[in-house]
Amino acid sequence: MQQIYTYGQYLKDKFGSKVYKVGINISGFTCPNIDGTVAKGGCTFCENDSFSASTNQVQTLKGFHLNLNSTTDPYLDKQLQQLSLQFDAISKRQKQEYGAQKFIVYFQSFTNTYAPFETLKALYEKALSFPDVVGLSIGTRSDSITDETLAYLGELTKKHEIWIEFGIQSVYDATLERINRGHDAANVKEWIIKSKKAGLNVCGHLIFGLPGEDTQMMLETAKQAYEWGIDSVKYHPLYVVKRTALANEFSRGEFTPISEEEYLDVLMQAIKMKPDSVSVQRVTAGINNDSLLAPDWCRDKNRQIKNINKALSPLGLKY
Ligand code: SF4
Repeated sequence: MQQIYTYGQYLKDKFGSKVYKVGINISGFTCPNIDGTVAKGGCTFCENDSFSASTNQVQTLKGFHLNLNSTTDPYLDKQLQQLSLQFDAISKRQKQEYGAQKFIVYFQSFTNTYAPFETLKALYEKALSFPDVVGLSIGTRSDSITDETLAYLGELTKKHEIWIEFGIQSVYDATLERINRGHDAANVKEWIIKSKKAGLNVCGHLIFGLPGEDTQMMLETAKQAYEWGIDSVKYHPLYVVKRTALANEFSRGEFTPISEEEYLDVLMQAIKMKPDSVSVQRVTAGINNDSLLAPDWCRDKNRQIKNINKALSPLGLKY
């Protein structure tokens, strides 16, 4: 059985040791699809009630939100402090529990290029100064990164491992409109290609089971994402959580979640089509608490992985 080429393997080959991503959640960051710049309410599946990063340090910064036009950042010191506290706590645990030796700081929540350039620069440079940090991974939207930030990140890649993660979700504009994504597929394509040209590594997030999509459409999205040159991929099934617009659609009977069988089918085909050089960072997603409305198979991560491995077995692969 051959192991699927994972992101962990990519990092191990490159750095010769166990490299872990440290997920960071900085308050003050939000999303243009939530703050009204692009739209209000966010993507229909996004649970953005709190409109703020959920960390221990967040309370003190409640109501503070940056955007690309912010001219000042009165809480930059507190944000830098949050970054240090979170990195120290998480990296310590990863060292103790998993033997992590090196780290990629992952700016994970909301839109992590959607703030004044000076704020971004200060946070990224602080993160790169931590011990054993080899690089950054920055989660963002393709409509929320400026040429200035991209050029700066392009410079950083000369000395560090720099990744940018874009939510692609679907290449169909009708689907993107239906989920209130706030940008079209051409925008994602443009910024993935620009990011590659700037020398960045790109991870694309794909969602299978979006409303109105059949298997062929999901596979077309995967095919085009590979063609745009992504270096790594995260595959997710769409699941419904409470307090979202999707939850309302679901309760009105207007949305049927993807079944596990359908998901496994599309996932296997997407993996078969994947260029060998594209590493896999995630093969499924879910949540095991009361907020999950459907589908129930997204509750148990271990069971999901077991079933994915069962489906991979005839292909001679394992995850
Ligand atoms: S882009 Fe991300 S943070 Fe913004 S609304 Fe969509 S899912 Fe939520």
